[in-house]
Amino acid sequence: MTTNKTLKEEALHYHAKGRPGKIEVIPSKETATQRDLTLAYSPGVAEPCLAIAENPEDIYKYTAKGNLVAVISNGTAVLGLGDIGAGASKPVMEGKGLLFKIYADIDVFDLEINTKNVDEFVRTVKLLEPTFGGVNLEDISAPECFEIEERLKAEMDIPVMHDDQHGTAIISAAALLNALELVGKDIAKVKIIVNGAGASASSCTRLYVSLGASKENILMFDSKGLIHPSRTNLDGKKKEFANGNFPAEITLTEALVGADVFVGLSKGNILTQEMIKPMAKDCIVFAMANPTPEIPYHEAMAARKDIIFATGRSDYPNQVNNVLGFPYIFRGALDVRSKVINEEMKLAAVKALAALAKKPVPDIVNMAYGKDNLVFGKEYIIPKPVDPRLLTTVAPAVAKAAMDSGVAKFPITDWDAYETQLSK
Ligand code: NAP
Ligand code: MG
Repeated sequence: MTTNKTLKEEALHYHAKGRPGKIEVIPSKETATQRDLTLAYSPGVAEPCLAIAENPEDIYKYTAKGNLVAVISNGTAVLGLGDIGAGASKPVMEGKGLLFKIYADIDVFDLEINTKNVDEFVRTVKLLEPTFGGVNLEDISAPECFEIEERLKAEMDIPVMHDDQHGTAIISAAALLNALELVGKDIAKVKIIVNGAGASASSCTRLYVSLGASKENILMFDSKGLIHPSRTNLDGKKKEFANGNFPAEITLTEALVGADVFVGLSKGNILTQEMIKPMAKDCIVFAMANPTPEIPYHEAMAARKDIIFATGRSDYPNQVNNVLGFPYIFRGALDVRSKVINEEMKLAAVKALAALAKKPVPDIVNMAYGKDNLVFGKEYIIPKPVDPRLLTTVAPAVAKAAMDSGVAKFPITDWDAYETQLSK
């Protein structure tokens, strides 16, 4: 209780101290002399305006567009706090801006749009296309988030990604591939239980399927039970994962018997030790509900010696956190002026993250976690967010995939120079 109170006070003080909020705009050119100002603004500024009017691609040469991402929300599904409104979501969006900047040197304008109407939201974002190099949609509730993202992807010529769906999918997929490798199981054969059928669960499951998981072996549950073809109340993306191979009335507890993988994207404390004990040998449990996982770390670890366990929390091993993805995915996409973030780019990010976890861990990462021996294994299946190699590993992998899949407008030719530039 005391800890929570301290955290509350500290967090409010952190946001309020000095200039309120967490981000500001800083000029990137010299402004000391009158000549500088003549160039920066009238009359000099007319020249780049005319250049862009003549050749629209010059906007990337003369403005900040190419390094500017819009973090956009309507505040309808903020963290685990629910529909708290556009204004109340602003600290999260500023926070996301801060992370983009510190991890990938990407500038962000956070935009909180005060509407729940899909048409109005889509039209607003679309009209902002000239300003931005990319759009990170954030904390928008399901099922509206699916239509919003699909329409914007189709209608805009810059990369658009709803991070709550795809970020989680990419990071958890990398963790899943590595966990399966550690226990020597084939993704095509494992029985996977997905608890939760919302924005993140459907996107995660789709990515696992594109990595080889068999839909027949996947049982997805929402708050009402198994997603089954006989259900008449399936909205959003739920029908996609309806599985008729099992009885409609099977419970989560029954489904877990013999299951190899549990993926939790639902809510805290719905899984017990008794429920995971009958899972298959070397079971993999990702309890990713935030801030309280489906089962607490210590309970899960005490229930089984052979478990591989991950959560969304930073205070336990194997943190599945989107910050491992979005800064670097957008970095790679922006650097080749990709028109989209497509499946190939997402899979490239998954593979780059999975591979990085198997490399020797630099001292700087061990030190940040007070360890001296982080090494690929059950307690280290994905890289840590502070790992500086994420930028130089994931961004080039995503950029390459954009080029190979034909969506890059500005291909990179000298990869060594690119990686050197990234690590500066
Ligand atoms: P969402 O779209 O609101 O979906 C939540 C889903 O959970 C819904 O399908 C809901 O069922 C289901 N659910 C609720 N209680 C349940 C229960 N007792 N049993 C089975 N299913 C239940 O939310 P979301 O954005 O996907 O996020 C879901 C959770 O994952 C949140 O806790 C979020 O913090 C967490 N998350 C974690 C990460 C990470 O990186 N660690 C990333 C994204 C999300 P109905 O459809 O029937 O309402
Ligand atoms: Mg989010």
